[in-house]
Amino acid sequence: MFEDLKREVLQAALESYREGLFAGTSGNLSIYDRKNGVMIITPTNLPYEGMKEKDLVAINLQGEVIDGIHAPSSEWRLHAAVYAAREDCNAVVHTHSPYATSFAVTHEEIPLILIEMVPFLGGNVRVAKFAINGTPEVGTYAVEALEKRFACLLANHGAMAIGADLAKAKLSAVYLEDAAKIYAFARNHGEVKILSKDVELAMRKKYNLD
Ligand SMILES: [Zn+2]
Repeated sequence: MFEDLKREVLQAALESYREGLFAGTSGNLSIYDRKNGVMIITPTNLPYEGMKEKDLVAINLQGEVIDGIHAPSSEWRLHAAVYAAREDCNAVVHTHSPYATSFAVTHEEIPLILIEMVPFLGGNVRVAKFAINGTPEVGTYAVEALEKRFACLLANHGAMAIGADLAKAKLSAVYLEDAAKIYAFARNHGEVKILSKDVELAMRKKYNLD
């Protein structure tokens, strides 16, 4: 069941692992078939090396397994909360990528410092309030921080990116890590200039974001 979606999820998971967005068994991603109310998500506690399509899990937004031989990622509630709240998003990539996560640790948002943060991330990157991983609060707080955004940081935990499809969510996750790295470098050698509200509004208009 859901072979095409499983293939897409597996490919993105393996790529994320090779690119260093995921380390060990950390990080997880999913895609949502909104018409059928089915999410395909990476399994819990399984190394990415050697992961196969049959290892992916199909669940509904209540976490009930529809198809699969493993339990879903322990972070499935985070994914489900986003799909319930954001009809514009059908894919979620959750990482512990080091530069982005370093700002999640200091509870500092990444301000709007790069013009392309608007199309890829929706603007500045906020930090969602702290919650124990796997609890419903992780999702509730993430949805708050994601208002009009495609990415956020999870306090003392990690980072996440969302998108209309998996390719877009994955690209946003990569871009988020890159923006966090550039922000860290810039702060080390000078005064960071944040883009003005006028520029932000002009960019939102250019990309039809409201
Ligand atoms: Zn996590």
